[in-house]
Amino acid sequence: MSFIRTLRQTVLAGSVALCGLAQAAIPPELSKTVSELAASQQGDLEKVFRQLHANPELAFDLHDTSKLVAKRLKKLGYQVHTGIAKTGVAAVLENGDGPVIMFRSDMDALPVKEESGLNYASTKQVELDDGSISYVSHACGHDSHTAWLLGIAKVMMETRDSWSGTLVLVGQPAEELIAGAQAMVDDGLYDKVPEPSLLISAHVYPVWPAGTVAVKAGRRMAGSDQLDVHLTGIGGHGSRPEGTIDPVVMGARTVLAYQSIVSRNVPAQEPAVLTVGAMQVGETHNVIPETGTLKVNLRWYKEGTRQTLLDAIQRETLGIAQAAGVPEERKPTFTMLGYAEPVINDPTLAGQANETLMAAMGKKRIMPGIPPVMGSEDFPMLVAGIEDAQTLFVEVGGGAPDVMKNYMEKGELPPLNHNPKFRIENPGLAITTAVQANSTLLLDAFLQAQ
Ligand SMILES: [Zn+2]
Repeated sequence: MSFIRTLRQTVLAGSVALCGLAQAAIPPELSKTVSELAASQQGDLEKVFRQLHANPELAFDLHDTSKLVAKRLKKLGYQVHTGIAKTGVAAVLENGDGPVIMFRSDMDALPVKEESGLNYASTKQVELDDGSISYVSHACGHDSHTAWLLGIAKVMMETRDSWSGTLVLVGQPAEELIAGAQAMVDDGLYDKVPEPSLLISAHVYPVWPAGTVAVKAGRRMAGSDQLDVHLTGIGGHGSRPEGTIDPVVMGARTVLAYQSIVSRNVPAQEPAVLTVGAMQVGETHNVIPETGTLKVNLRWYKEGTRQTLLDAIQRETLGIAQAAGVPEERKPTFTMLGYAEPVINDPTLAGQANETLMAAMGKKRIMPGIPPVMGSEDFPMLVAGIEDAQTLFVEVGGGAPDVMKNYMEKGELPPLNHNPKFRIENPGLAITTAVQANSTLLLDAFLQAQ
């Protein structure tokens, strides 16, 4: 309910704050061309979307998806690089002097059994790394992201006489693992494409009606860490605990100690989450195991908060092990598995984006944006190592026309991203709206630099 209340406040505040903004940055003629080019692709892009929706692929294994994307981008005339971080795609359009600007779409699905009721719903099953079989579906809408990447590619190619610079389009794998963006950088993305000064990415949300977009300033999504904490004790017979150092008890104490890290170490004004998602220790009733692992997930917005969490985890874990009598050579160790920076829209950049979008698309199609969440996105990692590179995050509506009315009047929201019942209403309109909005923002960024 608190999400619902906060969203309502944001909607009410946003509808006031968005009034009276300044003028267009893109010539009206060009805006009209972009709008027409976007609309003319509706049938084609919806077909691509349905094809991807019915054939979702997981993590780094986006073989069919990346093949489709690469083929189409090549056909449009882009210089295309494939196989970056296994199935990542990067396409370049060199179009004279000017800045390098990147647009990224994530393309991966989720191990979720689809219950959307759509007649093109996925029934696909795949084998996971651990050998188990899982259903797979596009329960986060990355199929629409992939489709609009192709639409944007066409608009930018067809309008290339109106702008100059270098456009880089990225089709990214493994966003759901918060790993694909960094993996593409590590696999030599920037040996193949130039480094951008601005990176734009967008995500579909069913809380806004299809046909609308939002660019909200400030904090959008939290930074995130995944880490394993390895505990080592001394194993032995379950009947003789006095001869052991029990990692089950150490693990239990450690999990409980972690529960006061946020409340006792992080200032109340700063959001932070520490979740132990798994505690893997022991096999059977009468054996005290030797080792155990805690699987920890962190969410934060400030680097200082992140450091506070990591320091406290280390302090508490080492302290509990020491108190249990763990010898120095068996003390706990920590493995950092993944990291993503927070998504924060610079207020000046977001303000300019809102002006541009309002002028190009009309005020009614611009939503105020969802409140900041503790969920994460990994696209900022594409430019984390590039000094002064900016990022901009765009929300794209994928809900029914009455979604806001139902929400404001009854507090009802449709099934959200990652829910088995998640679905994009009117996907053709949602996708072409994303094409129009993001192409407009890309053009604006190129034109501003001239
Ligand atoms: Zn997603």
